[in-house]
Amino acid sequence: MSRPLRARLSARALATNFSVARGHAGSAQVMAVVKANGYGHGAEFVARTLHNADSFGVASIEEALTLREAGVRKPVYLLEGFFESREITVAARHGLIGVLHSESQIEMLTASDRPAQIWLKLDTGMHRLGFEATRCAGLRTELESSARAQVTGVMSHLARADESDPRATQVQINAFSQATESGRIRRSLANSAGLIAYPEARFDCVRPGIMLYGSSPFALRDAASLGLLPVMTLESELISVRACRKGDAVGYGGDFVCPEPMPVGVVACGYGDGYPRHAPPGTPVLVAGSRVPLIGRVSMDMISVDLRSTPKARVGSRVVLWGEGLPADEIAARAGTIAYELFCNVNPRVPRVTM
Ligand SMILES: *Cc1c(COP(=O)(O)O)cnc(C)c1O
Repeated sequence: MSRPLRARLSARALATNFSVARGHAGSAQVMAVVKANGYGHGAEFVARTLHNADSFGVASIEEALTLREAGVRKPVYLLEGFFESREITVAARHGLIGVLHSESQIEMLTASDRPAQIWLKLDTGMHRLGFEATRCAGLRTELESSARAQVTGVMSHLARADESDPRATQVQINAFSQATESGRIRRSLANSAGLIAYPEARFDCVRPGIMLYGSSPFALRDAASLGLLPVMTLESELISVRACRKGDAVGYGGDFVCPEPMPVGVVACGYGDGYPRHAPPGTPVLVAGSRVPLIGRVSMDMISVDLRSTPKARVGSRVVLWGEGLPADEIAARAGTIAYELFCNVNPRVPRVTM
């Protein structure tokens, strides 16, 4: 039998989470954000399952072409715009919409032989990508009178919509409203956190990412309370159960020393698969349906677990690292990261099994 580790993907959970997003969106269109290979879930699987999304968002032309090759006909947005002028021609041919954020990208428009369909990225306070409001307005007039580009929308991104203090987000929402109120332009501001927490941030199109995959964008509200279901269950099996003696040191560095005779299980999953190496001892692992603590250091291909509370565990017992029964958000918090990173880091060697 092959190595038992796999990422099981639930199309039903994904579709449910999309309906939750749709429910929050009111009359706004919903762009499903599928960059980074659908947050590690497989962009093709996500796009096929979410055939009722109004559009898709990706980070590069390669990601966009993957969707087109998979038969996706809906509008696809390049959220970081074009990286070289050659991409404008490819985008025009495949009906991809570039979200332009810099002067150098505007210069590419003049260097291209095809007119582009674009949105402009406006900086409303995140200070990462985007034009200042005055420059954005100027560009709209300039580009509208040139034949180089058709500007159909303006987008901005929220930096702090996941926090409980709403002030910074309200400043961004107001800045966005003001800068975009003139003209028949389409407007988009909200990520998952903005979509759930700020109805006034919906505008014409919302852009959920993480919530589609069943994780909460908020540190203080869990996914289940938002009606979200885990899409990915990273599951494996116990490949060894040892009866260790009192004083036995387990794993690299001998960090864990058995305080008494005890069963120690080894799970086929490690940081080489995307399990966070910084997950500390005590991080929960689901073995045969029961939570047991991680012990010792995470290895490349394995982790060790304390089986004292689950004496029925055997070689071959099912293990869940995160997903159904064990929220990825909880594991992420233990490891000092966010579920976004856990999902993106699931290594290509881990087979994705869709159901
Ligand atoms: C990634 C991304 C999103 C989705 O953000 P989530 O927090 O995952 O909902 C939305 N908009 C842009 C521009 C993004 O890059």
